[in-house]
Amino acid sequence: MILIVVEHANGKVSKSTYEMVTCAREMGREGPVTALLLGSATVTVANEVASLVDQVLVADHADLAQYDPEIWSAAVAQIASEGEANTVLISGSRSGREYSPRVAVKLDAPLLEDVVSITPNEGVISAERYTYLARVTETVVVNAPVIVITPKQAAFAAAIPGTQAAEQFDVDLTLPQRRVQITGKSQEKMSRISLADAEIVVAGGRGVGSAEGFQNLVEGLADALGAAVGATRAIVDAGWRPYSEQVGQTGKTVQPKAYIAIGISGAVQHLSGMGKSKCIVAINKDADAPIFKVADYGIVGDVNQIVPAMIAAIRK
Ligand SMILES: Cc1cc2nc3c(=O)[nH]c(=O)nc-3n(C[C@H](O)[C@H](O)[C@H](O)COP(=O)(O)OP(=O)(O)OC[C@H]3O[C@@H](n4cnc5c(N)ncnc54)[C@H](O)[C@@H]3O)c2cc1C
Repeated sequence: MILIVVEHANGKVSKSTYEMVTCAREMGREGPVTALLLGSATVTVANEVASLVDQVLVADHADLAQYDPEIWSAAVAQIASEGEANTVLISGSRSGREYSPRVAVKLDAPLLEDVVSITPNEGVISAERYTYLARVTETVVVNAPVIVITPKQAAFAAAIPGTQAAEQFDVDLTLPQRRVQITGKSQEKMSRISLADAEIVVAGGRGVGSAEGFQNLVEGLADALGAAVGATRAIVDAGWRPYSEQVGQTGKTVQPKAYIAIGISGAVQHLSGMGKSKCIVAINKDADAPIFKVADYGIVGDVNQIVPAMIAAIRK
């Protein structure tokens, strides 16, 4: 079987799970496409995912209410071994990238990270993946009875739900003792749409001038377009925006339909997080700014004049 570990939050299945289903179907490996759901009070999530796959394994347990890499990797490895999975797909999210290597070690399986495409070839898997900050696309061939894969987020199209609901099975797990307890939580104010799910991202850099400039220009344009908000590290380090909005090598990776970069120079560390967006629009007063090398549309000029005019035109 091909085992997909469902990524979910707040009772909703994440977009990356839909993408993993497409990846699983393109692999041409044997067995049913099976979703493994780890969590507590997961009925809604199980029903949503049942429209995507061939069968759903549900591990609904109080101990699984909180993500923990030790527990998640033990649970996934146990189910993969018992079900003789030939492939384990784990989201390329921050947590997925954290526990997937542990799963690979437990299963003595090779791990393919950041996969952007898969081609089956008589039992051998040929995959493309990004490396060197997504500047190089590498082709790898793997021939192993069990493979662990983390697809790059947004690299595969989201699967379309079917009309039939797959059968759901409860599974028992022998879980290790939780060694790390979460004793407190404070949450940063999130932008209106999550960066990972947004079709349009409006991002701002130092060129917006100040936290207030960011609010007026970047948030203003994002509100007008119904887009998510992103920021460069320079902005986050300056304390103008929360880290949750940082795009780039040490922030989030996004691949929206449109990425609008306002006052962003286009440093390689920023490009690695957004350079694969379908359409990039850059606004910068420096015609030689590196962002224009990756932009599909470039506007050379002062963001303080151009962006308010864009907002006014869109609102009209
Ligand atoms: C290990 C490491 C990891 C990093 N990780 C990240 C990361 O994850 N994400 C990230 O973004 N960066 C990251 N960085 C930082 C990165 O190298 C850059 O410093 C940063 O991206 C620059 O941000 P910026 O474009 O906002 O600022 P700047 O590079 O200062 O660019 C500002 C731009 O605004 C333009 N501008 C100024 N005024 C105006 C105006 N009025 N109108 C129009 N344009 C104007 C300027 O021409 C300039 O191009 C990392 C660096 C390191 C070393």
